[in-house]
Amino acid sequence: MTSKTPVKDPKTNKTVAVISLGCPKNTVDSEVMLGKLAKDNYVLVKDPSEAEVVIVNTCGFIEASKKESIDTILGVAKLRKTGQLKSLVVGGCLAHRYGDELKKELPEIDILFGLNDVENVATQIKGKPEPLAFSTAPTAEEMKKPLLPNSLNEATYVYDASSPRLLSTPKHFAYVKISEGCDLPCTFCIIPKIRGHYRSRSIEDIEKEARQLAAQGVKELCLVAQDSTWYGADRYGKPKIAELLAALAKIEEIEWVRLHYLYPSRVSDEMLQVIADNPRITPYFDVPLQHASNKILKSMQRIGDRALLDKLIHRIKAKVPHSSIRSTFIVGFPGETDQDFEELLDFLKQSQLDYVGFFAYSQEENTPAGVMGDQVPEKTKQARLAKAYQVQEEIAEKSHQRWVGQKLMAVVENVENGEVQGRTQYQAPEVDGVVLIEGLKDPRPGQWVPIEITHAFQQDLVGRVISKGM
Ligand code: SF4
Repeated sequence: MTSKTPVKDPKTNKTVAVISLGCPKNTVDSEVMLGKLAKDNYVLVKDPSEAEVVIVNTCGFIEASKKESIDTILGVAKLRKTGQLKSLVVGGCLAHRYGDELKKELPEIDILFGLNDVENVATQIKGKPEPLAFSTAPTAEEMKKPLLPNSLNEATYVYDASSPRLLSTPKHFAYVKISEGCDLPCTFCIIPKIRGHYRSRSIEDIEKEARQLAAQGVKELCLVAQDSTWYGADRYGKPKIAELLAALAKIEEIEWVRLHYLYPSRVSDEMLQVIADNPRITPYFDVPLQHASNKILKSMQRIGDRALLDKLIHRIKAKVPHSSIRSTFIVGFPGETDQDFEELLDFLKQSQLDYVGFFAYSQEENTPAGVMGDQVPEKTKQARLAKAYQVQEEIAEKSHQRWVGQKLMAVVENVENGEVQGRTQYQAPEVDGVVLIEGLKDPRPGQWVPIEITHAFQQDLVGRVISKGM
């Protein structure tokens, strides 16, 4: 977008900026909003200070993300002083989780909308900000409903291939949300209560969208959900992730199909086989494990114990030897002892994972773990967080040496100050390391180049360009 304030054509509507916070699933919702606004002739601007309307698509998952959302809302509210900002609109998970409470706490907000209104956003912001359409006092019946004290209904919306969508990611990759919601009982997690029950899109609909994206020049599809391994079970009576992957792997214009958010006990041999058999599907396994101590896994109400996790890592590495495994863990969960934490470190040393994110447990209201006893002191949480990262960095530094000498395709992500950053099949966008590409003439984002890995570190790799077929 140009830096100077866009000249408004009277036929067009207001200037709008969308700020997208949180996870890739929220990014997809923001892109549907952008598509809808563009379709309704709103002038989209990237810089909120140039906008008459700013939409903040919030995250409400844990304390840190709630804080980021509120800070962003208050930051935008300050723009009112410039006289440019006419309407501050808030949507997404924080809005859906707290609804009216948020409005009361933050009178700066003009319009609040829930997760079912992603495609109605254009209607919401048309004309003068009206009072909250759905701020009627909750009925006695609704009040009985747990966890949703405000008047926002249960989230039931999920977009489809006919939804207008404007990508906000670099043009060569796109997130594709294959389902929404979750029905699992993880005791630390508020998502099922925000995003609602598990609901899959159809294979035909996802394939249609994938072909639409490929026609736009997208080369990498990153499939996202709360739990991708359960895909289709609600719609077809049994999980269909293997069939979906096989269907998408047939789209010739696509270079990579990447799968995110696998639930450990639901990784099927069928799915592993489809990944092993299809070079278009990246040998990349994003499987949040959360912990490795049986006592803590039980207290988290995670399906599966340490033995299952050990077996899973073994199955992945046996079936897909050239694989990359990403995971996330929570440290400081209520009741976690030094012994439990040591078991987690032991699991890391044994499993040799490639990319790992650690989170200090966030005590969330309206979650079973939030009212558990034995809450771990913050100081202990932070100490364990630091220790876990230190141990994992040493592991990754050594285990990534196995990639040195490999000849791989890489996609150029970013060219800055002569440095060419890209990604290989082992690295997902926005969360994993990059490969620094050497010897590429006229590098440009979205370029696919054959490289040979020359150096490997705990996060990043270095590769030199080789000519095709070498
Ligand atoms: S699988 Fe567990 S952690 Fe993930 S969204 Fe569902 S309830 Fe939350």
